[in-house]
Amino acid sequence: MGRTHRVRSRIRKRRAESGADSDSDIFNELHRYLGRAGWRNESRLSVRTFQSTGRGLCSKQNLHPNDLLIRVPFHCLISLKTLEHDPDFNALFNSVENFPQKELSFQGLLAFYVIFHQHRAQSQHQTYMTTIPEFFTNPFFCAKQELHFLPDAILEKIVAQNQEIKAFYELLSKEFTSAVCECCSSPLFPNIFGLDQLKWAYFAVNSRCVYVDPKVVVGWVPNSYFLRLIKDEPKLALAPFIDLLNHSDSANTISQITSNEPFQYELYTQRGYSRYEQVFINYGELPNSKLLVEYGFYIPGNKHDFFEMALTDIELLMKSRNVVGHRNKFKFIRDHNLDQQMFIHRDEGPSHNLVVALYLLLVEESVFPNVLSQVAFGSSEHFESLIHDEIRTLVQLKLEEYEKFLKGLEDFTSRTESGEVVLGYLKECISYLSKFLCNY
Ligand SMILES: [Zn+2]
Repeated sequence: MGRTHRVRSRIRKRRAESGADSDSDIFNELHRYLGRAGWRNESRLSVRTFQSTGRGLCSKQNLHPNDLLIRVPFHCLISLKTLEHDPDFNALFNSVENFPQKELSFQGLLAFYVIFHQHRAQSQHQTYMTTIPEFFTNPFFCAKQELHFLPDAILEKIVAQNQEIKAFYELLSKEFTSAVCECCSSPLFPNIFGLDQLKWAYFAVNSRCVYVDPKVVVGWVPNSYFLRLIKDEPKLALAPFIDLLNHSDSANTISQITSNEPFQYELYTQRGYSRYEQVFINYGELPNSKLLVEYGFYIPGNKHDFFEMALTDIELLMKSRNVVGHRNKFKFIRDHNLDQQMFIHRDEGPSHNLVVALYLLLVEESVFPNVLSQVAFGSSEHFESLIHDEIRTLVQLKLEEYEKFLKGLEDFTSRTESGEVVLGYLKECISYLSKFLCNY
């Protein structure tokens, strides 16, 4: 049984147990659950399926700039505070003597909390758990054969994600090596919690959390036990219903936690929407490569997009021109972080660092660090005209590389849903690079 199938069966089972058999039942149940917790649907939001994004939210009334998008009692969110006040979750950690401090990421801890509650039939979060999608479309979940057609920049990020999740799983397995579940007496690892489940939960948390001010949350739980275990700030919270809002590059939202009791999480929209038009949240000004890797989608024509280049791309260009780069030059570029922020922008052209790196490697004759320094940090305005052809060739080579990936993935007929998203992403990149060449 594959990962997706296993996760789907488990969620179906959970949905059947909760008496909800269709999407609308699930969201009606979520509505009632939040209602019992004190939520009022002030902006008359409603769950719909939209052609461009799938499941999302719209309002049954017009929304104006600066209107409230949603306001939810803070205790409905799953934050550090929730974990701290959960007796069963605390008991589990208390069963381990000296759990290592500052080793867990908060995202990982939330992912573990999700699978912990997913397993428990009597979980107070059962209604919310049924609304988490059965699978995610991040390239992380591509089939092995599809990985051959992924650009290096994406592959490197998948490898890093995999290492992080595996290390986290190994840490949990090691610490809870003799722990058994109090509801069914089975050993926790690996019998109840498998690596595949944690992978699913990791991306569930990644794509469904909202940002909450960690100072506010920490202030509510002085002497927090879990705060001692995590190595980063508890700035994430799972947010029932709010997590149905999709991201748009043209949305502009402001969030806040009210300063008086009862504490509420509020989201305001900076732009207006007409009734039944999909309303959006904005995760930040993110390019498509980031949206794809972290959240499993991309936006056609994303206005915050740019295309990153790596030193290896410049090396390919040099090879095609029979230029041998001196190691001093590479060392200089790396030492001064000029290999970071190397990108092209469709309308604004190549970035400063890309221009400087190309000039140093392909035009500059000196290899002495003091001369390279004078060149790199002096006036570089005239460089771009000197390496215009190099930039074009660099982009041309990238275009050919992506067209090959696209062709390979198109020929691979049994694509996963992640593979489908990557296919669209490659087409989007090809269109972006082509437009750049037209303008440049
Ligand atoms: Zn159990």
